[in-house]
Amino acid sequence: MTLIRVALDVPVARLFDYRCDDRAAQIGARVLVPFGRQKLIGIIVARPDISEVPEAKLKRALSVLDAEPLLGRADLRLLEFAADYYVHPLGAVIMATVPAALRRVRSREEKPTAYALTAAGAAADVATLPPRARAQRELLALLQDHPAITHGAIAALGAATRKALQTFITQGWVQTTILPQDKPATMSTPAAGPALTAEQNTAVETITATLGTYQPVLLWGITGSGKTEVYLHVIAAALSRETQVLLLVPEIALTPQLESLVIARFPGIPVATLHSGLADGERATRWQDARNGRARIVLGTRLSAFTPLPDLGLIIVDEEHDTSFKQGEGFRYSARDLAVVRARQAGVPVVLGSATPALETYRNAVDHRYQLLTLPERINARPPVISCIDLRHEKAIDGLSPRLIAAIGKRISRNEQSMVFINRRGYAPVLMCGSCGWMSDCKRCSAKLVVHLRERRLRCHHCGHDSAVPSACPDCGDADLAPVGQGTQRIEAALAKHFPKARILRVDRDTTRRKDAWQDMRSRIRERTVDILVGTQILAKGHDFPHLNLVGVVNADGMLYSNDFRAAERLYALLTQVAGRAGRGDQQGEVLVQTEFVDHPLYAALRDQDFDAYARSLLAERRQAGFPPYVHQALLRAEARTVDIALHFLAQAARNARRLKPAVTVYDPVPANMMRKSGRERAQLLVQSPSRADLRTFLNAWRPYLAETASTAARWSLDVDPAEF
Ligand code: ADP
Ligand code: ZN
Ligand code: ZN
Repeated sequence: MTLIRVALDVPVARLFDYRCDDRAAQIGARVLVPFGRQKLIGIIVARPDISEVPEAKLKRALSVLDAEPLLGRADLRLLEFAADYYVHPLGAVIMATVPAALRRVRSREEKPTAYALTAAGAAADVATLPPRARAQRELLALLQDHPAITHGAIAALGAATRKALQTFITQGWVQTTILPQDKPATMSTPAAGPALTAEQNTAVETITATLGTYQPVLLWGITGSGKTEVYLHVIAAALSRETQVLLLVPEIALTPQLESLVIARFPGIPVATLHSGLADGERATRWQDARNGRARIVLGTRLSAFTPLPDLGLIIVDEEHDTSFKQGEGFRYSARDLAVVRARQAGVPVVLGSATPALETYRNAVDHRYQLLTLPERINARPPVISCIDLRHEKAIDGLSPRLIAAIGKRISRNEQSMVFINRRGYAPVLMCGSCGWMSDCKRCSAKLVVHLRERRLRCHHCGHDSAVPSACPDCGDADLAPVGQGTQRIEAALAKHFPKARILRVDRDTTRRKDAWQDMRSRIRERTVDILVGTQILAKGHDFPHLNLVGVVNADGMLYSNDFRAAERLYALLTQVAGRAGRGDQQGEVLVQTEFVDHPLYAALRDQDFDAYARSLLAERRQAGFPPYVHQALLRAEARTVDIALHFLAQAARNARRLKPAVTVYDPVPANMMRKSGRERAQLLVQSPSRADLRTFLNAWRPYLAETASTAARWSLDVDPAEF
């Protein structure tokens, strides 16, 4: 009899002990267990000698599903770190990272795929079995002849054989196994890329020299400086050392182009692309490929940071500053930060690439904790010229200033492409009554309903509310309703009026919903069947459009002032990305930013394209004000039917915290910036400390109190290193 400790996907913050008949049960393997009236699949995380639960009360595990651990020791170590650091239950952390298809109980009885002999079974002599145990003798002989036999094949031999199998498992002769996989593809020579520039070459050589040791590297290269080419070269070096590579990207939308680049460069090397858009079965297959070493390059979004990689040799995080690397609900983790932890645990280099590194990362580089490699110049192109259009002197009509209109007209006449960037989809952010001042508020959120004129709908972008545009004001009955402000649809309409012959393409979440839509649009842009692009963030990231020479930014001011201390950092990064789309071919790019605050330091820095100076000034401000990265924060978030219930819970939590006499600062509970969302009201409590260790110690001491004081009325979660307030 063996004891096993199991991680299960249940909303209880603990692990569960079971008795197990399978003495070969290994840590990291999946196991089917009874749980209440259900059967669940969990992962064995320990084989304890004793349990706190009296042995007689322990239930018996039904069957161990993997003979070889699904998660290796190194994988569990990373998950244990994450659970501890993010103060999240280990069971929930583990089960969040294992593909759903491998966690699902399919049939009445989940059966492992195949069986093989253990060392004891292989050494056993058929002659020692009692002559009457015919089924046992036959089965042992059969297993000694084959490396593994599938469950189906054994089951087909009849009830006596199935019983013999159980006996062998119980006495430790047989273990479950995965059928032997094909051998990993042999290394083929990478296709040739362009000759590297001197800076690229230095970066590649420096990173390659660190293979085999832990070394975090910040690859800071302006847009168009050829960071991808550097990645491809260091990937080649890691592959030739027969190691696997983990390449993290912020968004699904960015995976197809990078995937095709990688496949073209490394023909014959199995690449596993992992993102949340995959069907469960497909995701599980690719994950298994990575886990058993068949896939040599894993390319994926944040969750793939946890993919088991037995031969991991290099981690790359592209656009490391991107907020998509932070998981915003449930198990809230930063894939970028965990990538660094994973690299340290595995003793491999990690390359963080960006044109506008996160201030946390930049500070580490400035302080020499990370090695800084710089690509200061564009490949074969000059950086764009960025200037501001002063809206106080030049009136915009329908969101577009005459100067921007004229600039677009000039590009069209030269058969060049332009892009207008606006951070909001829909037609207008709100509908307003001209006679009583009524506004289209969402009843379930602290937000306005956005006008989608083409579909004649009012939609909430937070809770999904969707209703018809009313023909009269719901308050006063007047028909004088008007959309206020601009969204992508309205800019598109205004451009169509100015340029009736131009081919205009709108790119936002609404037009790219269909699978492959964005990919089709990208080819249209490259084939030059588009004159003007209008769109949101989707257009900002990482695309290389050689005929796009003008970028207009509309409405950036809206993002300039915000309660979030990271607003300026984020806006600078976003605008740099957007500006980076201009002039990547042989023409110099032009970027026009419409604003009412031309003298704002952010716009001045943007015009100078001096990230280093701006980052240092922001860091100085953060240090002065006592903000991250100079302190470490955690946010206790609570939501309830009313904000008072949430605040009440937080007040109790704050009292508990102070009673612990913590070495951290505990602030007072406040309503969240967006207080109401999807019909729930939200509040939060900030705790912070200059010492990461102190914060971690405190949070782990605090958590049990939170679980205790929590009522069903208030739901709570801890957010360590919160990215949003
Ligand atoms: P970044 O990711 O830094 O914005 P990219 O990696 O997209 O830049 O590179 C910009 C462009 O320059 C791409 O079209 C890429 O193929 C090209 N490129 C990169 N390195 C070289 C090089 N050494 N010689 C010629 N072209 C290059
Ligand atoms: Zn009205
Ligand atoms: Zn809403």
